[in-house]
Amino acid sequence: MLAAALIGVVGATLSLAKFTTSSLLEQDAVSTGQAWASYLAKNIPDLTQIANGAYPSAASMKFFEQSQRVGSVFRYKIFHPDGRLRLVSDELTAVGTDKMNLGAHNTAAASVIATGRPFAGVKEGTTPNRPAYFAEAYVPVFANGRPIAIVEAYTDQTEKRARFERAFAVTGSAFSLLTALVFCIPAVAWYRRTRERDRTERLNQFLERHDPMTGLLNRARLVETLDEAIANIPVAGSMLAVHLVDFNRFNEINDTLGHDAGDLLLTTTAARLQALAGSDDMVARLGGDEFAVVQMLQYAEQARDFADRLRTALTEPLRFQDQEIVPAISIGVALAPKDGDSSKRLLKSADLALYQSKRDGRNAIRFFEPEMTAALRNRIELEKTLRKALADNRFVLHFQPLFEMPSRRLAGYEALVRLQAEDGTMVPPLVFIPLAEELQLIGKIGEFVLHEACRTAATWPDHLTIAVNLSPAQFEDGGISNTVADALAKSGLAPHRLEVEITESLLLADSEPVMRQLRALKALGVAIVMDDFGTGYSSLSYLWRFAFDKIKIDRSFMLGLDGSGRDAATVINTIIALGRELGIRVTVEGIETARQLEFLERTGADQVQGFFFGRPVPATDIAAEIVADFLRSKQPSIVAPRPKLAPPRLVG
Ligand code: C2E
Ligand code: MG
Ligand code: MG
Repeated sequence: MLAAALIGVVGATLSLAKFTTSSLLEQDAVSTGQAWASYLAKNIPDLTQIANGAYPSAASMKFFEQSQRVGSVFRYKIFHPDGRLRLVSDELTAVGTDKMNLGAHNTAAASVIATGRPFAGVKEGTTPNRPAYFAEAYVPVFANGRPIAIVEAYTDQTEKRARFERAFAVTGSAFSLLTALVFCIPAVAWYRRTRERDRTERLNQFLERHDPMTGLLNRARLVETLDEAIANIPVAGSMLAVHLVDFNRFNEINDTLGHDAGDLLLTTTAARLQALAGSDDMVARLGGDEFAVVQMLQYAEQARDFADRLRTALTEPLRFQDQEIVPAISIGVALAPKDGDSSKRLLKSADLALYQSKRDGRNAIRFFEPEMTAALRNRIELEKTLRKALADNRFVLHFQPLFEMPSRRLAGYEALVRLQAEDGTMVPPLVFIPLAEELQLIGKIGEFVLHEACRTAATWPDHLTIAVNLSPAQFEDGGISNTVADALAKSGLAPHRLEVEITESLLLADSEPVMRQLRALKALGVAIVMDDFGTGYSSLSYLWRFAFDKIKIDRSFMLGLDGSGRDAATVINTIIALGRELGIRVTVEGIETARQLEFLERTGADQVQGFFFGRPVPATDIAAEIVADFLRSKQPSIVAPRPKLAPPRLVG
């Protein structure tokens, strides 16, 4: 457009120059022709005679010849005032074409007399004996106020025209250049500004729809396109899948390797996702370390296959400087129209699936199932209860007795935490502890349990122990031995009366910080107990890893006894024998029946615990039991009676 406008301006300037050139030339030709005609008229004394048909005198002839050689007049004619041609210069020197017409009547010449004014015009020379450009001027000659003749002078204007044109070409070009400049500078500025504005606008539009770091679609745009795609499903007769991807412990990468490493992981992931996605699929970054792929499908199995490929590609290690990053992800998948008929519902379903997959651990893939909705609702409810209970101090401890074998004397209690919901019901620890661990609330709860358990046990006779369960999460910040020392100091409880129970899962990682903390606890004088022993795969090896004071055989073996019983009995016997060998005391948990107790009496276990002897009860309910045990100890003649028996019952 700009170029066309420029061409237009230059073209118009040049045409104007051309027009001006020819009109100026014409005027010049006329005045030159006129001047020559007047000059001839004045210098030819016998002009009247010639106009009347006489042959020119010798003097006139000479003048004609000379004038033709010096001036630019290359031809002239002399007419009678009535317009009849009388003389043509060609006729004097050569045979000219006009000779034929000599005496012919020229109306143009006649009209010059009639008007009394000269008449002139310019012509392009088209025949060989004419210059390329010349002027013809008819000039009336008067004597004493009367017309005596008409002189027509042909003047050659070729060279003049060339000069004019050259001059005009220069000025014209300069003028058009100037015009172009004057026009162009603002035009170019305008053009650049417009282009800049357009570019900014396009960038804004892009940013409105895309994630600036990865160039992928953003959430808003994904929702829009997803809605369109879902609406199109009935027409296209197809289906689609939303795959949500989230990194496990992404923040750890940022924290340990720096934000550049985190950025590299995100951009690499974006590239990997785009490489995997089909041309109809959509890839988006929903924010943080969460990505989404909308996959167009013909049949549902394609989604599983794609999710597998996603997992393989995205968990491929990548190098950052001289470090290797091994990404771990969780994938949640929902299918449309089955799991949601709007982007909102579908993303929600995929989110629930992702949530479940995160709970399943590293690199898990979960497809949405309708039950997940209820599970999530429960979890949200429980999370609320848990947070409120922490704020309102609604945790309470129950205590379950442990007895020495074979004396069946009360040895101590295990503190078991309960959450008292607002409706008064007791929420069992197996329900809320995993969530508390996940929400990182277990530290606070554990602190309460330690303080409360030590405070309560400090009121008991000195020989009774108190066992407290510790979650692996309580070892994460490295402060557990301080918390224990604090609880002991505040309660005044002797350290040897406190037993801390840990599970095999704490030792899975085989980490030095955990071992260091266990040693620190032991250094406080606290007993370390391996709880739920026998449920892990490589249980026995843990016994060599740390000098445990006690092993508690998991209650699942007691249940096992009630079946064919052979394997469970063998395992229990082996563990007890091993414990004896290593100098570790062994407690058997979960004794519910007299038959189980009978079996145990023969095994030589050091301690027993289970519903058969007593269920976990609030602190206020155990005073009588302590007193009874104390009295029994003072009457050695009486055979120690069986502890208060709960009705034998198997709990699955
Ligand atoms: P655990 O440490 O193995 O505690 C014993 C669990 O077995 C208790 O369940 C107890 O009520 C139950 N139990 C005892 N005898 C029998 C029996 O004869 N039959 C049956 N069926 N069950 C019996 P509870 O109180 O529900 O605690 C479950 C688990 O929650 C505990 O298992 C422990 O791992 C955890 N827990 C309890 N309190 C705490 C706590 O304060 N902190 C931490 N981190 N975990 C705790
Ligand atoms: Mg325990
Ligand atoms: Mg246990």
